[in-house]
Amino acid sequence: MVIVMKPGTQQREIDKLVAQFQLQGLTVGITNGVGCTILGLVGDTTAVDMDKITINEHVERVMRVQEPYKKANRKFHPEDTVVTVGSAGIGGGNFSVIAGPCSVESEEQIIDIAKSVQASGAAMLRGGAFKPRTSPYSFQGIGLDGLDLLLEAKAETGLPIVTELMSTKYCDIFEQKVDVVQIGARNMQNFDLLKEVGKMSKPVLLKRGLANSYEEWIMSAEYIMASGNEKVILCERGIRTFETYTRNTLDVSAIPAVKRMSHLPIIVDPSHSGGYYWLVDPLAMAAVAAGCDGLIVEVHNDPACARCDGQQSLTPKHFSELMNKVTKLAEMMNKVLSV
Ligand code: PEP
Ligand code: MN
Repeated sequence: MVIVMKPGTQQREIDKLVAQFQLQGLTVGITNGVGCTILGLVGDTTAVDMDKITINEHVERVMRVQEPYKKANRKFHPEDTVVTVGSAGIGGGNFSVIAGPCSVESEEQIIDIAKSVQASGAAMLRGGAFKPRTSPYSFQGIGLDGLDLLLEAKAETGLPIVTELMSTKYCDIFEQKVDVVQIGARNMQNFDLLKEVGKMSKPVLLKRGLANSYEEWIMSAEYIMASGNEKVILCERGIRTFETYTRNTLDVSAIPAVKRMSHLPIIVDPSHSGGYYWLVDPLAMAAVAAGCDGLIVEVHNDPACARCDGQQSLTPKHFSELMNKVTKLAEMMNKVLSV
């Protein structure tokens, strides 16, 4: 962090600030320029409050030269993190696919879909038991019963289960029953929830918020990691733009950019990005070509009758065809399908 003092600031004011930083365990380099002094803070400045320094009447400008995230930062952890779920790895040369319906609806539905996506090469089964719906009148998910149906599908197929946690009150039950805890886009900055999943032992799939920057997204991962859980998988799921033809806009740049910023694996959700089944293939292919570590895809055995997001769900047959295409492309990207 660099602090530029106002011209003519008295030495005792500079000494006061320097002493304050030294108390925080930082080393301060002092450069006396023509008319103004520049302080360079060396050490862990993640906990330094920039705003507090900015309001000091003797300070002209404050600039961060280091990112505010540490545990998620590639600078301090150059090698890719690989998150292991069951027998599958996500990140570091592995390519894994999570597939399943938007919501768990019935025993027959989830087991049928689980078997078909497994046969096509999916490594994990997704399915929402608790659904974050825009309208309170829309289907809200079947709740805790959904977790038990997911467990039945896991017992039938062996596929680990990925499902969304919306409330801290279910952390214990998710810890017991779920393999990967999904934090949805709408809760990306629910900091209480992030701190609680940070205390869990299960990997966390952290979706990018609808209108959040890369740094905000990585800071949310940092929350989870700072609470003790370093098994974070990032998921780009499309962002809000001025375009309304598609549900969201897939930010392909997020894949290489976030990989440069962080060592955490990043997967892509082409279903919520585009919002239509016919957009899933091209968006998935673009994501794989940009170097993502995996995909999460909505698949339904009867999309027309799905209780949620049928318009963007693939049939099992369509998913199987997509898997053939993305697996070939992933190989070209030097990734190995992990199941
Ligand atoms: C989902 O994956 O079921 C979901 C609700 O996605 P998002 O949080 O990305 O909207
Ligand atoms: Mn959905």
